[in-house]
Amino acid sequence: MLKMSSSKNNSPAILQLLRRSLALEKARDWHTEKTVQTVVLNLRKNGFTALYAPTKEEAVKKILDMIPKDAKVGLGGSVTLREIELVKALSERGNTLADHWRPGISKEEAKQARQSQLTSDIFLASTNAITMDGKLLNIDGSGNRVAAMIYGPPKVIVVAGVNKIVKDLEEAMKRVRNVATPMNANRLGSKPPCSLTGICTEDQCELPERLCHIITILERRPNETDTTVVLVGERLGY
Ligand code: SF4
Repeated sequence: MLKMSSSKNNSPAILQLLRRSLALEKARDWHTEKTVQTVVLNLRKNGFTALYAPTKEEAVKKILDMIPKDAKVGLGGSVTLREIELVKALSERGNTLADHWRPGISKEEAKQARQSQLTSDIFLASTNAITMDGKLLNIDGSGNRVAAMIYGPPKVIVVAGVNKIVKDLEEAMKRVRNVATPMNANRLGSKPPCSLTGICTEDQCELPERLCHIITILERRPNETDTTVVLVGERLGY
């Protein structure tokens, strides 16, 4: 963010540039706020608990307050959860974690962690896209994340940056296919067509390279799961 300076050396042209930059930032913040207000309202209409945290630090504080220190916490494969350092905070606080991304973990241990997530007290995950009318769309390969989000853990907390908000389910699907999955493929070093081009060419994508196996849409809160969506006013994950 550019800052206005009181220096006498500021020329009128520089001051004008700074004013424009501040006005643009203000307009962006205003738009984010309006968008988030609509999404939070519609998530609540759909039965979810929804709240907004302007920064990742505030999000972590709110989420830690929701999780008892003795709770077993399942962690979905999520860059967002690591990016906001929530996993680190939970680990340092002493929560038992079911984490299949734990460094150095064996294949068998990862499988056990995925299974353990289904019986955790609280399951944490992100989502691939949130629509303006308050629905969550996800695509998984194994399905452990979407399974635990739907049934099993009594409480689920979904954390997502505002970059995951899209207009509707059509745009949500485009986002997952053309943004989230290509980036995920790149991170994993797997080789579906989107890992080369950055966009989905589904008709040319087959096993074993294909990552998209399971698609879920949470249109409303699952009956037996207390689901909270925490929207964070930053770009997080992908
Ligand atoms: S269907 Fe294949 S190409 Fe398309 S997003 Fe999924 S993994 Fe990538």
